[in-house]
Amino acid sequence: MDASAAVEKMSLRGAGACLVCKSSCSGFQPHSWRKACAACGCSTVDHAAPDGDAEDDQRMGRLLGDSPCSHLTAKVKGGGGLRVYKRNRMIVTNPVVSRKDPTFNTTTYDWAPAGLNQKLAMQYMELLPESQRPVSGTPGARQRRRHLLSQLPVYDQDPMKCQSLGSEDEVSAMILFVKQFKLEVLGVGEVGLPGEAGALKEAAAQRTAKEVKDRGDKAEAVQHQNQSVSRGAASSAVNGTDDKTEYRCTGCHRDVSKDSPVVYAERAGYHDALWHPTCFVCSECGHGLADLVYFWSNQKLLCGRHYCESVWPRCCGCDELIFCKSFVTAEDGRTWHPQHYCCWKCGQSLDSPCQH
Ligand SMILES: [Zn+2]
Ligand SMILES: [Zn+2]
Ligand SMILES: [Zn+2]
Ligand SMILES: [Zn+2]
Ligand SMILES: [Zn+2]
Ligand SMILES: [Zn+2]
Repeated sequence: MDASAAVEKMSLRGAGACLVCKSSCSGFQPHSWRKACAACGCSTVDHAAPDGDAEDDQRMGRLLGDSPCSHLTAKVKGGGGLRVYKRNRMIVTNPVVSRKDPTFNTTTYDWAPAGLNQKLAMQYMELLPESQRPVSGTPGARQRRRHLLSQLPVYDQDPMKCQSLGSEDEVSAMILFVKQFKLEVLGVGEVGLPGEAGALKEAAAQRTAKEVKDRGDKAEAVQHQNQSVSRGAASSAVNGTDDKTEYRCTGCHRDVSKDSPVVYAERAGYHDALWHPTCFVCSECGHGLADLVYFWSNQKLLCGRHYCESVWPRCCGCDELIFCKSFVTAEDGRTWHPQHYCCWKCGQSLDSPCQH
C-alpha cells in the first residue's frame, strides 16, 4: 500500500492509536482479512475510534430490532424499517455547595439500565467497581465500548459484514442461526429490586402482546395470547412468593439485600433467577455483560461471542464463525478456515514451521 492510500484508509477508519501498545503503533492499519492492525498486530477492538457511539447504536439497533428486546430500539425516520438503539444515557447533576455561588457538577454515564428512576440507577452504578462505571471519558466508558465490540462482533450477526462466507449455503446457515438466537436466546437484563420480578414479568408479557398486535399476525397472536395467559398465571404465583424475606444470587449463591438493585433476565424466567450486578457476567470469559446484553443457553449466561462459539467454531485467523464443512482443527481444539491457517508474516501454512 502506498503512503497516500494508507493515510486515506486510516482517516476513513478514524486513525485510532493502539490502546495496547500506545505510542509504538502509528495508527490503525486494517489488515486485509484479520480483524487486526497490520502495523502492530493488535486487534481492531484495541484501536476503536473514541467517537463510535452512533455506529454502536446502529449496530445494537440491528441486533435488538427483531428480538423480544425491540422496545429498546426506535425506528429510524425514513430508514425503511431500520432501527436504532435507544441507549439510555444518564446525566447526573449535583450542586457543589462549598462556594459562595452554587455551582453544579455534572456526570454523564454513556449508558445506564433502562426504565429506572435516577436513584435506583445510581444505586446500581455504585454497586459496580469504579473502573467499570461507564462515566463518559473515563476508563470505565472505554471498557464498556471494548466489551460491546468484542462481545457482540458485527460479523457474528450480519452476513454482509463477513468476508469469509464461501457459498450461498453458508450465508443461509448464518441467517438461520442469527434468526434463531434472536428469537430464542438473546436478551437484555433488567434492573430492579428483589421482589419486583412479578412486575417485570407482567411488563414483558404486555410488551409481547402489544408487539404481536402491532404486527397484526393473526396466527401468531393466538399462539402468543396463550403464552401470555400462562405467563399471567405464573406471574401471580410469583407475586405470591414476592414477600420472600431472602433472595439468593443465581451467580454466586450468596444473599442479596432486599433494598439493593439486582439484574433479572427474561429468558431465565424471572422467578428465583436474579443476579448481583457484579455477578451478571459471561460464564465463559467472566466479563461483565456489556449493556446487560446476554445469551441464555443451557441455563447459563453467555456473552454473544461465547454463545456463538458454543454453536459454531470460530476462525483464529479472521475471527469469524466457520460455517463451511472443512476447516482446520489443531490438537488444542483451535480452529481455522483452511485459507486462514497461515503465518501472519509470510503466509506459510502453520504446519510447516517458518522463522516467525
Ligand atoms: Zn496498531
Ligand atoms: Zn497494538
Ligand atoms: Zn452474586
Ligand atoms: Zn464471554
Ligand atoms: Zn478465517
Ligand atoms: Zn512466517
